[in-house]
Amino acid sequence: MDDATAPVERTEEEWRAQLGPEAYAVLRQGATERAWTGEYVSTTTTGVYRCRACGAELFRSTTKFESHCGWPSFYDPSDTSAVTLHEDGSLGMIRTEVRCARCGSHLGHVFRGEGYPTPTDDRYCINSIALTLEADDSVE
Ligand SMILES: [Zn+2]
Repeated sequence: MDDATAPVERTEEEWRAQLGPEAYAVLRQGATERAWTGEYVSTTTTGVYRCRACGAELFRSTTKFESHCGWPSFYDPSDTSAVTLHEDGSLGMIRTEVRCARCGSHLGHVFRGEGYPTPTDDRYCINSIALTLEADDSVE
């Protein structure tokens, strides 16, 4: 039985086989997909966004907003414990990396206080390929 809250431990070889090369590069190696190329950039479907690596619920469509940055953007995770935040000093910038709390996979970055008209003014800038959208067919 799959416990949705249990930590997920896999070897890098297992992740590579499960995810395929593109998702592996983002989720396990911290790569960023090119802007405007991800399948969920402009998606407005109602549903739950899960971690593509482990299936944990990360975001809901209700917090997705149009940021015009080229990546799916959310103003809040489904639950504050769904993701973990880490300082990232790569590319000569200090950014805050967002990872899946359950499996530790790289999801994207969070940017704060940019002036978006959302309840938090946080922008969780997430790679589409790190997510799987589970559409909620019961909601019109
Ligand atoms: Zn995960």
